[in-house]
Amino acid sequence: MENKHKRMRIGEGKISGALSIFLGALSLGGILCFKFPEQLTTPEFREVYTPEIVENLMLGGIIATFLFALVSLLLANNKKYAVVGVVLGALAVLLGGMTVEGRAVEKMNWSLGLDWLILDLLVMVLIFVPIELVFPKNKLQSKFHPEWRTDLVYFGISHLAIQLFGVLTKKPAVAFFGWMNLDGVHTWVNELPFVIELLIALVVTDLFQYAAHRIFHSHYFLWRFHSIHHSTENMDWLAGSRTHFIDIFFTRSMSYMPLYVLGFSTLTFNVYIVFIAIHAVFIHANTRINFGFLKYIITTPQYHHWHHCQEPEHYGNNFAVVFPFIDKIFGTYYLPGNEWPKGTGLVDASFPKGFMKQFIFPFVKNPFKNDLLPEERSDR
Ligand SMILES: [Zn+2]
Ligand SMILES: [Zn+2]
Repeated sequence: MENKHKRMRIGEGKISGALSIFLGALSLGGILCFKFPEQLTTPEFREVYTPEIVENLMLGGIIATFLFALVSLLLANNKKYAVVGVVLGALAVLLGGMTVEGRAVEKMNWSLGLDWLILDLLVMVLIFVPIELVFPKNKLQSKFHPEWRTDLVYFGISHLAIQLFGVLTKKPAVAFFGWMNLDGVHTWVNELPFVIELLIALVVTDLFQYAAHRIFHSHYFLWRFHSIHHSTENMDWLAGSRTHFIDIFFTRSMSYMPLYVLGFSTLTFNVYIVFIAIHAVFIHANTRINFGFLKYIITTPQYHHWHHCQEPEHYGNNFAVVFPFIDKIFGTYYLPGNEWPKGTGLVDASFPKGFMKQFIFPFVKNPFKNDLLPEERSDR
């Protein structure tokens, strides 16, 4: 039987076709951001865009879309990739993609983060796709495995809703600590050298994150939600995005609390956000790169893949997202030399396919085949 999801090979015209569609879609999204900046761009980001950078990105994106479409047209038997790429590129041109010009933007209460989605997708693909292609862990796994579209929808929605998530996850911190006068603590933290401040932010949030993560594993009702994140059998840079809204909300709210209470500077906060965004993608990546002794200091793909392992005897380990020493302290550390888990995913559960179905499912049904008692579920 032919494997529909085997890796693409150079010379088939498929890679160029996929690149053409990818860049065409990003260019089209980019021009939509220009047409509707109030509704589609992030207010904090607007301040850092310069017209030259954006103009060149748009122009480069559209030209590359057409060039890759041409290569695909020449090489591929199936011309549909090239046609889709050309259509997307043409739409971007028709909407004015070659001659973008900034304009004054009115302030709105709510907006979607389409600009954040486009930029992060572009940067993550530029960093991680080459790494996964050159140093893959699972050599046979294609980028276009059976569930890549579902994972992409998770990635898209969490980025579009950046503002909503930001506001919602800050609420519990404000509710619990907003009434306290914490100016003294804030002054002390802000007087620390930047590196120390950043390190404290990373360690403290990882401790809170660790606690939230363990709660999601040990409470049988919450495990229904978090197990969606564990349902991925094809670990790659995009797979970490598969996280239920309830999971994101509670885990981020918990991690947010120390940041709010200790009052870190805007610079520390922004560096923290960028680091966590890249690192969370990194630990799910399909790459065998293991970083020598560094793997004992900071979590790596091998470390987090063990957290996703299929072997029941190794469940309940490696909850820390950034620092393995936190698992060491709490006795949940597992890193056997250079060994990797045989597989990832859930052997005893089944989720429906697709974002919306997975969103509703844990509220109404138990994804696990055997109805274990709550206390038996807690060994995860
Ligand atoms: Zn987990
Ligand atoms: Zn994970």
